[in-house]
Amino acid sequence: MIRVGIGYDSHRFTEGRPLVLGGVRIPQSHGLAGHSDADAVAHALTDAILGAAGAGDIGRLFPDTDPRWRDADSMDLLARAHDTVRARGYACLQADLTIIAEQPKLAAHVDGMADNLARRLGLGPGRVSVKAKTNEGMGFIGRGEGLAVIAVATVEAR
Ligand code: MG
Repeated sequence: MIRVGIGYDSHRFTEGRPLVLGGVRIPQSHGLAGHSDADAVAHALTDAILGAAGAGDIGRLFPDTDPRWRDADSMDLLARAHDTVRARGYACLQADLTIIAEQPKLAAHVDGMADNLARRLGLGPGRVSVKAKTNEGMGFIGRGEGLAVIAVATVEAR
């Protein structure tokens, strides 16, 4: 059986933190606020694979009230979540993500993110797709207050 999960995440830009998306550190004056490293790409994909397996969500697995996850490497959280998915008898097959951000331009970084995500899930190259687009200047994203990510993943019963 194939199951599909969806994940969404958004974070606010803030000064004084590095911008890390999909495990790629992007040169930029502002990073993202959050309890962990605020890698919204990793967070959205984590929720997608957990949702596909009916295994809850990232906040339930890694609560932001737990000091263990302060400044956590979210790519590690993704790999841990996949362990949880596997323990339920599923494995991720593929995933597709869209980042919505007005700034910075991300086209040069999306392939590196996709490779990182695939590797952390134990998937071959090409199994994870990452795309980036703007919000045409509208809303909180258009004003540059933050960015958002949507992820879809499929898992297969093993
Ligand atoms: Mg998040």
